[in-house]
Amino acid sequence: MDDVVILGGGVIGLASGLALVRDGLQVRVLERGEPGCGASHGNCGTITPSHAPPLTMPGVLWHALGWMLRRDAPLYVRPGLDMERLRWLFGLARHVNWRDFHAAAAARAALLIQSRERFAPMLQEFGIEAGFEERGILFLFKDQQVWKQEQAHTALLNDLSIVVESLSSEQLHANMPGLRSEVVGGMKYPGDAMLRPERYVAGLEQAFLRSGGEITRETDVLGFCTSAQHIDSVHCSRGNYPAKRVLLAAGAWSPLLARQLGLRLPVQPGKGYSITWGKTAGVPDIPLVLKERSVCVTAWADGFRLGSTMEFSGFREGLNRTRLHALRRGAAEYLKLPPLGAPSEEWWGWRPMSVDEVPIIGPSRRWENLHFATGHGMLGVSMSPATAVLVANQFTGRTPDLDPTPYDPARFNL
Ligand SMILES: Cc1cc2nc3c(=O)[nH]c(=O)nc-3n(C[C@H](O)[C@H](O)[C@H](O)COP(=O)(O)OP(=O)(O)OC[C@H]3O[C@@H](n4cnc5c(N)ncnc54)[C@H](O)[C@@H]3O)c2cc1C
Repeated sequence: MDDVVILGGGVIGLASGLALVRDGLQVRVLERGEPGCGASHGNCGTITPSHAPPLTMPGVLWHALGWMLRRDAPLYVRPGLDMERLRWLFGLARHVNWRDFHAAAAARAALLIQSRERFAPMLQEFGIEAGFEERGILFLFKDQQVWKQEQAHTALLNDLSIVVESLSSEQLHANMPGLRSEVVGGMKYPGDAMLRPERYVAGLEQAFLRSGGEITRETDVLGFCTSAQHIDSVHCSRGNYPAKRVLLAAGAWSPLLARQLGLRLPVQPGKGYSITWGKTAGVPDIPLVLKERSVCVTAWADGFRLGSTMEFSGFREGLNRTRLHALRRGAAEYLKLPPLGAPSEEWWGWRPMSVDEVPIIGPSRRWENLHFATGHGMLGVSMSPATAVLVANQFTGRTPDLDPTPYDPARFNL
């Protein structure tokens, strides 16, 4: 019997698995496809304490309603009577108030900042070559008003120990000839970083296997064998896996598995898209967020990616050409892009969006040997090192160096 069976081999499952095997536990990851085949593959790879403020800022609902009238807007909610989605949307709307906003920002900042500090030593310790660069991130603005609103958050970010610098149009254009004249200002977050996410996940997988972990691939978790308050084994397409403890880290699919245990996990898939090209000359070498269009631009030594959009359309698979075009059009509004040619990959993935925008990490109260590590939304890569340490501390009974209370699944009666 394994000490821990982890459901899901994404960035959260693998990083947690690695921390647990390093603590001497026998760990198995059950993965329906190949490790990293979910949201952890084609995301933008930015590591962003800058994103500590959640989406639930008061005023956001009017903005969101305006966006929903446009088919190519960065936010899309598919109309329809999906009760789980409606319940989640109303739940999210309830968190749009200053008290919850500040609480979520503090909880997110704690995980983000601790992760950011751990990235470089962790990548070095495990020999993971993932194109990690500490260049910061730059938000670009075309609208003076939006830029001013962002500047108004400087004090909030500074209170969270996140450094931000405002850059004038002159400063930007003097240093970045590839910007279009429409760009009126920027905000630089020097503490942010980037890496190539698919390489990071592949590195975590290798380090986990080298450290003695096991991965059972192409194995669908279908349900659970239980007695009283205990999960005896995980029922899979390839048989049953008995486990002393179970870690639910199945990203956006986590609520489907939680439902098998009679639990309502308030997580919805937030679909996003990306387009990737090979090594591309003439693109900015600092990651960018093109604010009004919500497009993220990342250029590594060996590739270039445009990504983003947030679509709440349930578990509807596949690419949406309108949204892919919107990424390209959005980028071209801010940047004089070189001819890009055919992309090497067009991709979509589901972010595990928790209803209060705070990850769900910790033990279940209902099932004595179930633990959660999910709901990381737009920030799973950025939060993975600290999530893994928190999970390992909780499993081994060490005192966590991060207050676990804000992430506690008990807030949702799980
Ligand atoms: C367009 C886009 C851009 C993004 N950019 C960034 C960024 O710049 N920085 C950042 O930090 N984050 C970013 N994110 C968010 C990030 O990708 C996610 O938060 C993160 O990948 C979630 O990791 P996870 O391990 O929880 O889920 P996943 O990576 O989705 O892993 C879950 C795994 O569980 C497996 N699974 C599910 N159900 C079962 C089952 N029944 N049986 C067996 N296995 C199962 C899946 O196959 C999958 O491999 C972005 C996301 C998107 C979509």
